[in-house]
Amino acid sequence: MSNPDFRVIATEKGEGVTYTCGCPCVPTAVPADGAPGFEHCCCGKVHFAGAGAESALTAYLAGRAHRKREPRYTRGLATVGAVEVAWAFPQE
Ligand SMILES: [Zn+2]
Ligand SMILES: [Zn+2]
Repeated sequence: MSNPDFRVIATEKGEGVTYTCGCPCVPTAVPADGAPGFEHCCCGKVHFAGAGAESALTAYLAGRAHRKREPRYTRGLATVGAVEVAWAFPQE
């Protein structure tokens, strides 16, 4: 799977990273206080943006691994501007 079309957008909480999700949402991860922000969309896709995004995503998914309905994810990394992005989308 190639990287989604990540792009920086302005939000009321500062600059965030979004992508075309395919559902009606505009999932946006906004880094704050040097920590990555994330959004886990209602459609099951999750992305983190900010320094440490990859390890934050790993910890987040590990914390959900016990869930019965947790899907398998395809993961990837991207850089948008200077922002590190890590994503995990459910496999079909
Ligand atoms: Zn959604
Ligand atoms: Zn979505």
